[in-house]
Amino acid sequence: MIIGVPKEIKSQENRVSVQPAGVLQLKRHGHKVLVENEAGLGSGFTNEMYEERGAEIVENVEEIWGQSDMIMKVKEPIAVEYPRMREGQIIFTYFHFAASQELTEAVRDSGAVAIAYETVEKKNGSLPLLIPMSEVAGRMASQEGAKYLEKSSGGRGILMGGIPGVAPANVIVLGGGIVGVNAAKIAAGMGANTTILDVNVQKLRYLDDVMPKNVRTLYSTEGNIRNLLADTDLIIGAVLIPGAKAPNLIRKDMLGLMRPGTVMVDVAIDQGGCFETSKPTTHDDPIFIIDDVVHYCVANMPGAVPYTSTMGLTNVTLPYAVQIANKGWKKALEDDVELLKGLNIVDGKIVYKDVAEAFEMDY
Ligand code: NAD
Repeated sequence: MIIGVPKEIKSQENRVSVQPAGVLQLKRHGHKVLVENEAGLGSGFTNEMYEERGAEIVENVEEIWGQSDMIMKVKEPIAVEYPRMREGQIIFTYFHFAASQELTEAVRDSGAVAIAYETVEKKNGSLPLLIPMSEVAGRMASQEGAKYLEKSSGGRGILMGGIPGVAPANVIVLGGGIVGVNAAKIAAGMGANTTILDVNVQKLRYLDDVMPKNVRTLYSTEGNIRNLLADTDLIIGAVLIPGAKAPNLIRKDMLGLMRPGTVMVDVAIDQGGCFETSKPTTHDDPIFIIDDVVHYCVANMPGAVPYTSTMGLTNVTLPYAVQIANKGWKKALEDDVELLKGLNIVDGKIVYKDVAEAFEMDY
């Protein structure tokens, strides 16, 4: 199969869908990989690194789309890419169709086979191609929180780990899922007193067993959250209610309970945010201050660390890509129910229920 790797063109997107080691693996299975000129540069991979692993560097992106049986991307195609998609061509990427009717119609009308990273699903309901990005965002949340706690960034001017004789920062993490656990690990690793709040007692029981001594767990109620705020330095919002907008766990009136310079990092901002005062921000202008409380609400946190994000993403996408390339998409999906869940659009039809329902389209 010929596999095409176009350069990502969405603003501030520096990830790439296949890294040089992935090219080698695809080559070993007898496939040809076309990589657009400088597609990997944003993640630290030069054309030469790709060529050494057997890729062919192609200057003209139209050629890549025109020749490839499967296009691998990171982000969904944007308008200039719509006319490049063609009938029967496999496109394996994050699509997030339910967020855009225009994209859904463009892919449907192209006749391409859309296999979406975000809906590939394990038998236990976990989403293996989303997990690494949650891990990145969670770990970054504490790192960014620590940065914005510095006085010059608007924060209280407190060091996460304190020093001997001076107390460390107090961090609360709302939600003990993938993001929350990763945020708590880093905060605790920096020495902060860390509290994870969740509504899933089973999860709290497990976290209580495995987390370090400076992490405690607490059942998530408005009362418990309110009680913590006066003595908290950093709040990380990491809740998710699948298929729904995140709940507002910190309302505007609660900001007054906090000390000036408290920092709130709303990782759940991509689902609407879990603080009432949150609104999406970008890496160029990541924070804003309301009632002396610093808000960090970047919707694509992994974009700040493209090397780690690309490596994490390609670790999990490549095995599926190899299956698709080796067997063809029909057989690969027939053999693997996890991957079958990724099929969203084929033969001009939407075959993923939630996407069809989002736009009241035929399913
Ligand atoms: P997850 O499903 O693993 O965890 C969510 C947790 O929230 C669960 O443990 C759940 O029990 C808990 N929860 C639900 N309601 C709660 C409440 N009222 N109080 C406390 N906890 C509650 O999800 P995840 O992978 O950790 O993702 C968390 C959020 O981060 C999602 O909205 C996801 O889209 C977002 N995310 C954002 C970025 C970014 O760049 N901003 C990147 C990755 C993920």
